[in-house]
Amino acid sequence: MLTEAEQYLLEQIRSGKQDAWSQLVDRYQGRLLAFARSKVRDGAEAEDLVQDTFVSFLRSLDNFRSQASLETYLFSILRRKIIDLYRGRRVNVCLLQDGLSPDGESDPGNLPLAAPDPTASWYARRDEDHDLKRSALAAALTDLIEGYKRELNFRDLQIVEMLFYCQLRNKDISQTAGVTVNHVAVIKHRCLNQIREQILRRLPRQSDAADLFTGADGPVPEAADSMIAEIWQERRLSCPKRSTLGAWMLGTLEPAWTDYVRFHVERLGCRFCRANLDDLEQQTATEPAQTFRDRILQSTIGFLKN
Ligand SMILES: [Zn+2]
Repeated sequence: MLTEAEQYLLEQIRSGKQDAWSQLVDRYQGRLLAFARSKVRDGAEAEDLVQDTFVSFLRSLDNFRSQASLETYLFSILRRKIIDLYRGRRVNVCLLQDGLSPDGESDPGNLPLAAPDPTASWYARRDEDHDLKRSALAAALTDLIEGYKRELNFRDLQIVEMLFYCQLRNKDISQTAGVTVNHVAVIKHRCLNQIREQILRRLPRQSDAADLFTGADGPVPEAADSMIAEIWQERRLSCPKRSTLGAWMLGTLEPAWTDYVRFHVERLGCRFCRANLDDLEQQTATEPAQTFRDRILQSTIGFLKN
């Protein structure tokens, strides 16, 4: 969802205001570049990708339906470009995935064989039924995650993040979280039930969309599993806000949240959030010094003798 400020900025950009555009570029270039650099070794290539991302953003402005924040949308365009660069190879969202699911490993587990294509849906128009499924699922997942946060149940949220955001196997999750495999399975089962209930509340029981998640009493079909991952990754449903990341960096976050953000950034190693943090660190390192210097110069220049 867009904030009012983002909405306003977009309107300005749509009507061709250069100021607004340079403001948007200024705001997002740092975090996008940090993300690109974490995936692409060559610095010049990373910069090209970010530049292309902004071009694509402008070109797709008319189709942008503001399902996510501008930041998330820009990240998803960039990620798509990196996937293209690697010819469709899986582009992991978390460091934890790199360590636990090396390329070519064919353990069935709960890793879908074909990696979900996380951003294609924002490029290609899909049919109405598909959109219906996606928005019902996104709403159900948001409910689920908000519930964990409200109860400060970050322990379960961490497990669910590893299940759906990172798509790790139960065995790997149990090792990382220090719980039994059975416990992971129980949490997963509970989650899917909740998602199913929410979906049924939002969609007509007879629709194809509802079928995808109901599957009678049997296991949730694999298609539903990878759709959850796709939407979770695409919308970054459980990523802390940038302001929360900033507070964590400054050590001003309350303890329960501190643990969760540390897990998300360091253990899970969410690349989007890490890119944001890199950018925040850069800003605090250079900007205050620079703007302060500019201010001093402006206010003192008249006093300078020729
Ligand atoms: Zn994140």
